[in-house]
Amino acid sequence: MPQYRPRVVVIGAGIIGSAIAYNLAIRQANVLLVDQEQVPGAGVTGKAFGWINAINGTPGTESYALWREGVAEYRRLMEALPAAFIQARFGSLLWKSDRADTERIARLHQEAGERVELLEKGGVQELEPRLRNAPDLAVFSPDDLALDPLQLSQDLVAASVEAGGLTRLGSAVTAIDTANGRVSAVRVGNETIVCDHVVMAAGGGVAALTSTFGVDTGLTTSPALLLRYACGRPVLNRILRGPRLEVRQAIDNTLLIAKSYNADTNDISPQFAGEKMLAVLKDELKLADGVELASAEIGERPVFADGLPRLGFLSEFSNLYLAVGHPGVILAPLMGRRAAEDVLEAATVAL
Ligand SMILES: Cc1cc2nc3c(=O)[nH]c(=O)nc-3n(C[C@H](O)[C@H](O)[C@H](O)COP(=O)(O)OP(=O)(O)OC[C@H]3O[C@@H](n4cnc5c(N)ncnc54)[C@H](O)[C@@H]3O)c2cc1C
Repeated sequence: MPQYRPRVVVIGAGIIGSAIAYNLAIRQANVLLVDQEQVPGAGVTGKAFGWINAINGTPGTESYALWREGVAEYRRLMEALPAAFIQARFGSLLWKSDRADTERIARLHQEAGERVELLEKGGVQELEPRLRNAPDLAVFSPDDLALDPLQLSQDLVAASVEAGGLTRLGSAVTAIDTANGRVSAVRVGNETIVCDHVVMAAGGGVAALTSTFGVDTGLTTSPALLLRYACGRPVLNRILRGPRLEVRQAIDNTLLIAKSYNADTNDISPQFAGEKMLAVLKDELKLADGVELASAEIGERPVFADGLPRLGFLSEFSNLYLAVGHPGVILAPLMGRRAAEDVLEAATVAL
């Protein structure tokens, strides 16, 4: 007997939608991934720093537990798709201005079962010889990952297509047709695509989609700045997060800095913020001449007031699934697997 293959439309090819499409495709669903942009990862994913970690979380909180699961899920994805991680780097160093705070963070994370250790100044200098003002003490997380989220989205979509998934890029979903508590189709331009399930993984675009049928999920967006600096040679081995900057170096030697940004209070342009950070970068790292600001972009992170993501069917429509929230890069493989399992389970129950 031929296997039932539910028709699932995933809206949004950011890192979350790409991970969902991949997980559906490898489970033999009939999946169509739609994005308004021409390439996967062109939304806020393309402006993310790409730090996969639990060290920035607070042990004991719900979001921390989720981060830990997210990090663990990356290990599984690395085994399933090793080629997507060839360029990934491992390890981070984090420190606070106050030594006691650094110690406290390490202790909390060690007690929670993470593989982290405290390094004295000499150890930090050994790992990062180009750090000008190495801290007296830093938390070293050897398993943290640094990766390019845009590239990972594209690799996930390629793996999804290889497993039989379809894509429709450069096409915005303009409406979702609903009747009697169910979704029947999505509208893409003049086309009506009939389907059994819809997954909304449209990041900040979810609010516009749900407003078409009068639902407010509470999603808002929060801006952050991604600064890229052209750098001709390798200077950093790991992610660094100190009181003055959060920086990593990509495989092509670009230095990346992530920074909070509030257009209301920071009345400076992203470009100017980038120039100011260049001075900090030169202060903190021994850099050769010629390091320059290459781009300064604001990314709007999709967030909910409680800081948790949303993953599940909307109460209003039994076959409309929502997958959105922060931190999307850390959580994408986990959200991708869970969303695929939930949708396929619902499809089986509906048979
Ligand atoms: C400076 C910065 C640093 C960050 N660093 C990290 C980090 O280190 N780790 C981490 O986990 N997170 C980080 N984030 C957050 C992370 O970028 C987001 O949580 C994540 O990328 C969200 O992914 P997404 O797939 O939900 O959204 P998006 O990447 O925005 O994907 C949504 C997609 O939906 C598409 N879309 C929207 N509406 C429609 C429509 N109507 N029809 C068709 N397509 C549509 C968009 O084109 C887009 O491609 C950072 C963010 C910023 C700005």
